[in-house]
Amino acid sequence: MPRNAVTATIYPPGNVAVARHASPLERYTPGLVPGYRGRFAPSPTGLLHAGSLVAALASWLDARAAGGTWLVRIEDVDQPRCVPGADAAILRQLADCGLRPDAPVAWQSQRSSLYHAALGQLVADGWAYPCACSRRDIAEAIAALGGSTARHAAPVYPGTCRHGLHGRPARAWRLRTDLLEDRAPGGPPLHWTDRRLGQQSQWVSRAVGDFVLLRADGLWAYQLAVVTDDADQGITHVVRGEDLADNTPRQILLQQALGLPTPAYLHTPLVRGVDGDKLSKQNGATPVDTATDPLAALHAAAAVLGLPGAPVGSSVALALAFWTRAWADKATAYNPAP
Ligand SMILES: [Zn+2]
Repeated sequence: MPRNAVTATIYPPGNVAVARHASPLERYTPGLVPGYRGRFAPSPTGLLHAGSLVAALASWLDARAAGGTWLVRIEDVDQPRCVPGADAAILRQLADCGLRPDAPVAWQSQRSSLYHAALGQLVADGWAYPCACSRRDIAEAIAALGGSTARHAAPVYPGTCRHGLHGRPARAWRLRTDLLEDRAPGGPPLHWTDRRLGQQSQWVSRAVGDFVLLRADGLWAYQLAVVTDDADQGITHVVRGEDLADNTPRQILLQQALGLPTPAYLHTPLVRGVDGDKLSKQNGATPVDTATDPLAALHAAAAVLGLPGAPVGSSVALALAFWTRAWADKATAYNPAP
């Protein structure tokens, strides 16, 4: 079948019920993933910057190219870090860029009962346990074992409370990563495949340790909320920035503990600041101006994704349609990194 004919069966979006054999090159070509559901899940700690718009555009294009559903979920589970009004501002930025969700927006802060049920299941199944350790307790336990923690690195929890609290009060709940990893297919370490980064692996119980599910301050941990929400919302494809790639093995372990399916993962290239570091709110990434020139913002994001410039004179809608075709057409689309 000539490539153009394949493309023609894909458009307009929605006309995706095309059964045919896929070559490896076309593994993610539209129509081959029935029931595609993707999401963009920003934290409302500030406005979208150039890097977060790349992730938003990529997840939208991937869903559109698949004729799938695209959701937006506000990840405000870490309330103290959230900026009031940032959620509405982010949604306005997305709308400026023509990126509108196909279903009502979800806020994690309104979904605690789901996380509560997930933790309950993990406890009942023996995958989660209470922990009484303070940061200082953990540092002392690591030192007593002859270990050390590199500056700026999170300490690897040494498993102190795996076998009981011995009368100390519980502060947090943790996941039994060692037992889960032992029974993971082909593990340990845990293996998975990223659509852009390729084969990946991590020995979670050694590199991260038994991570927190419910924090000592009473807030739900990011990992538990994301895994629970992705499953509850039926997400089949996660497309997000590469800065989140190292969360993936922890989320897969949690999915396995909860008996949930693992979505396909694609981590998009990061936008680098002038210092060569990843662009982030921390190193002063400025909010992307979507109000005065959304097309310029989208063009910059599309370029990071390896997409060609939209034809001169395109409207936002026409540019998005152009990039959707480019994303879907493997001859010119998103070019996987080596
Ligand atoms: Zn502990």
